[in-house]
Amino acid sequence: MVCKNCCLTFNTTRPHIVKKLLPTSTAGSLPKPSWLAQPGKLWSPWKLQGVELIEGKQDALRVTLADQSQAGIDIVSDGEQTRQHFVTTFIEHLDGVDFEKRETVRIRNRYDASVPTVVGAVSRPKPVFVEDAKFLRQHTSLPIKWALPGPMTMIDTLYDAHYKSREKLAWEFAKILNEEAKELEAVGIDIVQFDEPAFNVFFDEVNDWGIATLERAAEGLKCQTAVHICYGYGIKANTDWKKTLGEEWRQYENTFPKLQKSSIDMVSLECQNSHVPMDLIELIRGKKVMVGAIDVASSVVETPEQVADTLRKALQFVEAENLYPCTNCGMAPLSRQIATGKLQALSAGAEIIRRELTA
Ligand code: ZN
Repeated sequence: MVCKNCCLTFNTTRPHIVKKLLPTSTAGSLPKPSWLAQPGKLWSPWKLQGVELIEGKQDALRVTLADQSQAGIDIVSDGEQTRQHFVTTFIEHLDGVDFEKRETVRIRNRYDASVPTVVGAVSRPKPVFVEDAKFLRQHTSLPIKWALPGPMTMIDTLYDAHYKSREKLAWEFAKILNEEAKELEAVGIDIVQFDEPAFNVFFDEVNDWGIATLERAAEGLKCQTAVHICYGYGIKANTDWKKTLGEEWRQYENTFPKLQKSSIDMVSLECQNSHVPMDLIELIRGKKVMVGAIDVASSVVETPEQVADTLRKALQFVEAENLYPCTNCGMAPLSRQIATGKLQALSAGAEIIRRELTA
Protein backbone atom coordinates (compact mmCIF):
# COMPACT_ATOMS: atom_id res chain seq x y z
CA MET A 1 0.00 0.00 0.00
CA VAL A 2 1.18 3.48 -0.82
CA CYS A 3 -0.12 6.16 1.51
CA LYS A 4 -0.81 9.65 0.36
CA ASN A 5 2.36 10.92 2.03
CA CYS A 6 4.59 8.63 0.03
CA CYS A 7 7.05 9.64 -2.60
CA LEU A 8 8.00 7.10 -5.21
CA THR A 9 10.79 9.03 -6.83
CA PHE A 10 13.70 8.62 -4.44
CA ASN A 11 14.67 5.02 -4.97
CA THR A 12 13.53 2.90 -7.85
CA THR A 13 13.39 -0.35 -5.91
CA ARG A 14 12.46 0.85 -2.43
CA PRO A 15 10.30 3.96 -2.27
CA HIS A 16 11.13 6.74 0.15
CA ILE A 17 8.49 6.78 2.82
CA VAL A 18 7.86 10.42 3.53
CA LYS A 19 8.40 13.47 1.35
CA LYS A 20 9.39 15.73 4.20
CA LEU A 21 13.01 15.87 5.35
CA LEU A 22 13.90 14.20 8.64
CA PRO A 23 10.69 12.22 9.25
CA THR A 24 10.35 11.41 12.95
CA SER A 25 9.38 8.11 14.51
CA THR A 26 9.83 6.12 17.72
CA ALA A 27 11.85 2.95 18.23
CA GLY A 28 8.75 1.06 19.31
CA SER A 29 6.93 0.86 22.59
CA LEU A 30 5.11 3.70 24.32
CA PRO A 31 3.49 3.74 27.79
CA LYS A 32 0.06 2.12 28.02
CA PRO A 33 -2.95 3.85 29.60
CA SER A 34 -3.26 2.95 33.29
CA TRP A 35 -6.73 1.44 32.73
CA LEU A 36 -5.17 -1.15 30.41
CA ALA A 37 -2.04 -2.17 32.32
CA GLN A 38 -0.09 -0.87 35.29
CA PRO A 39 2.31 1.76 34.00
CA GLY A 40 6.00 1.98 34.77
CA LYS A 41 6.84 -1.69 34.45
CA LEU A 42 7.62 -4.32 31.83
CA TRP A 43 5.46 -7.46 31.49
CA SER A 44 2.66 -5.57 33.27
CA PRO A 45 -0.45 -7.79 33.40
CA TRP A 46 -3.61 -6.67 31.62
CA LYS A 47 -6.31 -5.11 33.78
CA LEU A 48 -9.13 -6.22 31.46
CA GLN A 49 -10.28 -9.58 30.14
CA GLY A 50 -12.13 -11.09 27.17
CA VAL A 51 -14.04 -8.69 24.95
CA GLU A 52 -13.22 -5.78 27.26
CA LEU A 53 -9.52 -6.48 26.75
CA ILE A 54 -9.89 -6.56 22.96
CA GLU A 55 -11.79 -3.25 23.02
CA GLY A 56 -9.36 -1.80 25.55
CA LYS A 57 -6.39 -2.63 23.33
CA GLN A 58 -8.09 -1.05 20.32
CA ASP A 59 -8.90 2.07 22.33
CA ALA A 60 -5.25 2.21 23.42
CA LEU A 61 -4.19 1.99 19.76
CA ARG A 62 -6.45 4.96 18.96
CA VAL A 63 -5.02 6.92 21.90
CA THR A 64 -1.39 6.24 21.03
CA LEU A 65 -2.05 7.17 17.42
CA ALA A 66 -3.62 10.46 18.51
CA ASP A 67 -0.72 11.15 20.91
CA GLN A 68 1.86 10.51 18.21
CA SER A 69 0.18 12.56 15.52
CA GLN A 70 -0.56 15.43 17.91
CA ALA A 71 3.12 15.46 18.85
CA GLY A 72 3.94 15.74 15.15
CA ILE A 73 5.46 12.27 14.72
CA ASP A 74 5.63 11.54 10.98
CA ILE A 75 5.91 7.74 10.96
CA VAL A 76 3.59 6.30 13.59
CA SER A 77 3.53 2.94 15.35
CA ASP A 78 1.20 0.86 17.50
CA GLY A 79 3.28 1.89 20.52
CA GLU A 80 3.17 -1.87 21.26
CA GLN A 81 -0.13 -1.26 23.06
CA THR A 82 -1.41 -4.78 22.36
CA ARG A 83 1.67 -6.63 23.65
CA GLN A 84 2.97 -7.21 27.12
CA HIS A 85 6.54 -7.45 25.91
CA PHE A 86 8.28 -6.96 22.58
CA VAL A 87 9.70 -10.49 22.47
CA THR A 88 7.53 -12.63 24.75
CA THR A 89 4.18 -11.71 23.23
CA PHE A 90 5.26 -12.84 19.77
CA ILE A 91 6.66 -16.12 21.10
CA GLU A 92 3.46 -16.80 23.09
CA HIS A 93 1.61 -17.15 19.79
CA LEU A 94 3.91 -19.85 18.44
CA ASP A 95 3.64 -23.62 18.68
CA GLY A 96 6.61 -25.55 20.01
CA VAL A 97 7.24 -23.33 23.04
CA ASP A 98 6.02 -24.38 26.48
CA PHE A 99 5.39 -21.39 28.73
CA GLU A 100 4.68 -23.62 31.76
CA LYS A 101 8.07 -25.31 31.52
CA ARG A 102 10.52 -22.65 32.59
CA GLU A 103 14.28 -22.56 32.95
CA THR A 104 16.56 -19.83 34.20
CA VAL A 105 18.91 -18.47 31.55
CA ARG A 106 21.19 -15.47 31.28
CA ILE A 107 19.65 -12.88 28.95
CA ARG A 108 22.12 -11.08 26.71
CA ASN A 109 24.91 -12.14 29.11
CA ARG A 110 23.46 -9.60 31.54
CA TYR A 111 20.74 -10.84 33.88
CA ASP A 112 19.06 -14.11 34.80
CA ALA A 113 15.44 -14.62 33.90
CA SER A 114 12.98 -17.47 34.05
CA VAL A 115 12.11 -18.21 30.42
CA PRO A 116 9.88 -20.64 28.51
CA THR A 117 11.26 -23.81 26.90
CA VAL A 118 11.36 -24.81 23.24
CA VAL A 119 9.96 -28.35 23.41
CA GLY A 120 9.29 -29.13 19.73
CA ALA A 121 9.39 -27.76 16.19
CA VAL A 122 8.40 -24.07 16.27
CA SER A 123 5.65 -22.76 13.97
CA ARG A 124 3.15 -19.93 13.71
CA PRO A 125 -0.33 -21.47 13.67
CA LYS A 126 -1.92 -18.10 12.85
CA PRO A 127 -0.94 -14.45 12.37
CA VAL A 128 0.14 -12.69 15.56
CA PHE A 129 -0.19 -8.92 15.00
CA VAL A 130 -1.88 -8.72 11.61
CA GLU A 131 -5.36 -7.85 12.95
CA ASP A 132 -3.86 -5.11 15.15
CA ALA A 133 -1.93 -3.76 12.18
CA LYS A 134 -5.06 -3.75 10.04
CA PHE A 135 -6.90 -1.84 12.77
CA LEU A 136 -4.11 0.75 13.00
CA ARG A 137 -4.00 1.11 9.20
CA GLN A 138 -7.74 1.84 9.14
CA HIS A 139 -7.25 4.70 11.59
CA THR A 140 -4.42 6.67 10.00
CA SER A 141 -3.09 7.69 6.62
CA LEU A 142 0.39 8.33 8.05
CA PRO A 143 3.12 5.80 7.27
CA ILE A 144 3.30 3.03 9.88
CA LYS A 145 6.36 1.28 11.24
CA TRP A 146 5.76 -2.12 12.87
CA ALA A 147 8.32 -3.71 15.18
CA LEU A 148 8.92 -7.44 15.48
CA PRO A 149 11.61 -9.13 17.56
CA GLY A 150 14.63 -10.27 15.55
CA PRO A 151 15.63 -13.95 15.38
CA MET A 152 18.72 -13.64 17.58
CA THR A 153 16.92 -11.68 20.29
CA MET A 154 14.12 -14.28 20.26
CA ILE A 155 16.41 -17.24 20.83
CA ASP A 156 18.17 -15.36 23.60
CA THR A 157 14.93 -15.17 25.58
CA LEU A 158 14.27 -18.93 25.56
CA TYR A 159 15.62 -22.24 26.80
CA ASP A 160 16.02 -24.58 23.84
CA ALA A 161 15.49 -28.25 24.69
CA HIS A 162 14.62 -29.25 21.10
CA TYR A 163 16.99 -27.90 18.43
CA LYS A 164 19.91 -27.52 20.86
CA SER A 165 21.46 -25.07 18.45
CA ARG A 166 21.08 -21.30 18.67
CA GLU A 167 21.71 -20.97 14.96
CA LYS A 168 19.18 -23.62 13.93
CA LEU A 169 16.48 -22.09 16.12
CA ALA A 170 17.28 -18.63 14.75
CA TRP A 171 16.73 -19.84 11.16
CA GLU A 172 13.38 -21.35 12.19
CA PHE A 173 12.32 -18.09 13.80
CA ALA A 174 13.49 -16.15 10.75
CA LYS A 175 11.12 -18.18 8.56
CA ILE A 176 8.23 -17.55 10.96
CA LEU A 177 9.03 -13.81 11.18
CA ASN A 178 9.10 -13.62 7.41
CA GLU A 179 5.57 -15.05 7.20
CA GLU A 180 4.34 -12.50 9.72
CA ALA A 181 6.23 -9.61 8.07
CA LYS A 182 4.75 -10.40 4.64
CA GLU A 183 1.26 -10.34 6.09
CA LEU A 184 1.96 -7.05 7.85
CA GLU A 185 3.13 -5.61 4.55
CA ALA A 186 -0.03 -6.90 2.86
CA VAL A 187 -2.27 -4.97 5.28
CA GLY A 188 -0.39 -1.74 4.59
CA ILE A 189 2.56 -1.52 6.98
CA ASP A 190 5.21 0.72 5.44
CA ILE A 191 8.27 -0.30 7.49
CA VAL A 192 8.83 -3.63 9.19
CA GLN A 193 11.45 -3.28 11.91
CA PHE A 194 13.25 -6.17 13.58
CA ASP A 195 14.49 -5.45 17.11
CA GLU A 196 17.93 -6.96 17.66
CA PRO A 197 19.44 -5.64 20.92
CA ALA A 198 21.27 -9.00 21.02
CA PHE A 199 23.38 -7.68 18.10
CA ASN A 200 25.18 -5.49 20.63
CA VAL A 201 26.32 -8.51 22.63
CA PHE A 202 27.03 -11.60 20.51
CA PHE A 203 29.37 -10.24 17.86
CA ASP A 204 30.72 -13.55 16.56
CA GLU A 205 27.22 -14.94 16.13
CA VAL A 206 26.04 -11.72 14.46
CA ASN A 207 28.72 -12.12 11.83
CA ASP A 208 28.40 -15.90 11.50
CA TRP A 209 24.63 -16.11 11.09
CA GLY A 210 22.87 -13.18 12.86
CA ILE A 211 22.72 -10.88 9.86
CA ALA A 212 21.94 -13.79 7.53
CA THR A 213 18.93 -14.82 9.65
CA LEU A 214 17.83 -11.18 9.84
CA GLU A 215 17.92 -10.98 6.04
CA ARG A 216 15.94 -14.23 5.88
CA ALA A 217 13.29 -12.65 8.13
CA ALA A 218 13.07 -9.69 5.72
CA GLU A 219 13.34 -11.74 2.51
CA GLY A 220 11.03 -10.74 -0.33
CA LEU A 221 9.52 -7.72 1.46
CA LYS A 222 8.77 -4.77 -0.79
CA CYS A 223 8.12 -2.38 2.08
CA GLN A 224 11.06 -0.79 3.89
CA THR A 225 12.95 -3.01 6.30
CA ALA A 226 14.70 -1.85 9.46
CA VAL A 227 16.79 -3.25 12.27
CA HIS A 228 16.81 -1.64 15.71
CA ILE A 229 19.99 -2.18 17.73
CA CYS A 230 20.12 -0.51 21.10
CA TYR A 231 21.43 -0.71 24.64
CA GLY A 232 18.00 -1.63 25.97
CA TYR A 233 15.21 -0.12 28.00
CA GLY A 234 16.04 2.18 30.89
CA ILE A 235 15.78 -0.64 33.44
CA LYS A 236 18.36 -1.29 36.16
CA ALA A 237 19.94 -4.40 34.57
CA ASN A 238 20.67 -2.35 31.46
CA THR A 239 21.88 0.81 33.15
CA ASP A 240 24.19 -1.28 35.37
CA TRP A 241 25.55 -3.04 32.27
CA LYS A 242 26.11 0.29 30.53
CA LYS A 243 28.33 1.38 33.43
CA THR A 244 30.70 -1.50 32.59
CA LEU A 245 31.09 -0.53 28.95
CA GLY A 246 33.67 2.19 29.48
CA GLU A 247 34.03 5.67 28.07
CA GLU A 248 33.37 4.80 24.44
CA TRP A 249 30.71 2.33 23.37
CA ARG A 250 32.09 0.82 20.19
CA GLN A 251 29.80 -2.24 19.98
CA TYR A 252 28.26 -1.05 16.69
CA GLU A 253 31.70 -1.20 15.12
CA ASN A 254 31.49 -5.00 15.18
CA THR A 255 28.22 -5.29 13.28
CA PHE A 256 27.88 -2.20 11.09
CA PRO A 257 30.34 -3.20 8.32
CA LYS A 258 28.39 -6.37 7.59
CA LEU A 259 25.05 -4.65 8.09
CA GLN A 260 26.10 -2.00 5.58
CA LYS A 261 26.43 -4.73 2.96
CA SER A 262 23.13 -6.36 3.94
CA SER A 263 19.75 -6.02 2.25
CA ILE A 264 18.23 -4.18 5.25
CA ASP A 265 17.21 -0.61 4.34
CA MET A 266 17.26 1.19 7.68
CA VAL A 267 19.22 1.00 10.92
CA SER A 268 17.82 2.34 14.21
CA LEU A 269 20.44 3.15 16.81
CA GLU A 270 21.06 4.82 20.15
CA CYS A 271 22.77 8.23 20.10
CA GLN A 272 21.26 10.53 22.77
CA ASN A 273 23.25 10.68 26.03
CA SER A 274 25.02 7.50 24.98
CA HIS A 275 28.73 6.94 24.72
CA VAL A 276 28.45 5.74 21.14
CA PRO A 277 30.96 7.70 19.04
CA MET A 278 28.89 9.41 16.36
CA ASP A 279 31.41 8.64 13.64
CA LEU A 280 30.48 4.93 13.80
CA ILE A 281 27.47 5.92 11.69
CA GLU A 282 29.94 6.31 8.83
CA LEU A 283 30.18 2.51 8.78
CA ILE A 284 26.59 2.24 7.52
CA ARG A 285 26.89 5.01 4.92
CA GLY A 286 24.14 4.58 2.33
CA LYS A 287 21.59 3.16 4.76
CA LYS A 288 18.72 5.17 6.15
CA VAL A 289 19.60 5.86 9.77
CA MET A 290 17.06 6.24 12.56
CA VAL A 291 19.15 8.32 14.93
CA GLY A 292 18.12 7.98 18.57
CA ALA A 293 17.87 11.57 19.76
CA ILE A 294 15.74 10.85 22.84
CA ASP A 295 17.17 9.15 25.93
CA VAL A 296 14.67 6.56 27.18
CA ALA A 297 16.65 5.84 30.36
CA SER A 298 16.05 9.33 31.74
CA SER A 299 12.88 11.03 32.94
CA VAL A 300 14.29 14.39 31.95
CA VAL A 301 12.58 15.64 28.81
CA GLU A 302 15.12 16.81 26.25
CA THR A 303 14.93 20.36 24.98
CA PRO A 304 14.37 20.74 21.24
CA GLU A 305 17.87 22.24 21.04
CA GLN A 306 19.41 19.12 22.64
CA VAL A 307 17.63 16.95 20.08
CA ALA A 308 18.77 19.27 17.29
CA ASP A 309 22.34 19.10 18.56
CA THR A 310 22.39 15.29 18.31
CA LEU A 311 20.88 15.39 14.82
CA ARG A 312 23.38 18.05 13.73
CA LYS A 313 26.26 15.81 14.84
CA ALA A 314 24.75 12.81 13.05
CA LEU A 315 24.47 14.84 9.83
CA GLN A 316 28.26 14.73 9.53
CA PHE A 317 27.97 11.01 8.81
CA VAL A 318 24.58 10.54 7.15
CA GLU A 319 22.99 12.38 4.24
CA ALA A 320 20.02 14.52 5.26
CA GLU A 321 17.64 12.50 3.07
CA ASN A 322 18.67 9.35 4.98
CA LEU A 323 18.32 10.80 8.47
CA TYR A 324 15.27 9.68 10.47
CA PRO A 325 15.12 11.26 13.96
CA CYS A 326 13.98 8.66 16.46
CA THR A 327 14.15 7.59 20.11
CA ASN A 328 17.03 5.51 21.53
CA CYS A 329 14.69 2.64 22.36
CA GLY A 330 11.11 2.03 23.47
CA MET A 331 9.49 4.28 26.08
CA ALA A 332 7.17 1.73 27.73
CA PRO A 333 8.70 2.08 31.23
CA LEU A 334 8.25 5.91 31.27
CA SER A 335 5.19 7.86 32.38
CA ARG A 336 2.80 8.95 29.63
CA GLN A 337 3.40 12.60 30.44
CA ILE A 338 7.17 12.27 30.07
CA ALA A 339 6.87 10.15 26.93
CA THR A 340 4.57 12.74 25.35
CA GLY A 341 7.00 15.50 26.28
CA LYS A 342 9.81 13.54 24.66
CA LEU A 343 7.79 13.02 21.46
CA GLN A 344 7.13 16.76 21.26
CA ALA A 345 10.83 17.49 21.85
CA LEU A 346 11.75 15.08 19.06
CA SER A 347 9.41 16.84 16.61
CA ALA A 348 10.53 20.31 17.63
CA GLY A 349 14.22 19.36 17.47
CA ALA A 350 13.82 17.84 13.99
CA GLU A 351 12.01 21.01 12.88
CA ILE A 352 15.00 23.16 13.97
CA ILE A 353 17.30 21.13 11.69
CA ARG A 354 14.78 21.08 8.82
CA ARG A 355 14.75 24.87 8.91
CA GLU A 356 18.55 25.01 8.99
CA LEU A 357 18.79 22.66 6.02
CA THR A 358 16.30 24.56 3.91
CA ALA A 359 17.37 28.10 4.93
ZN1 ZN B 1 15.67 -0.86 21.94
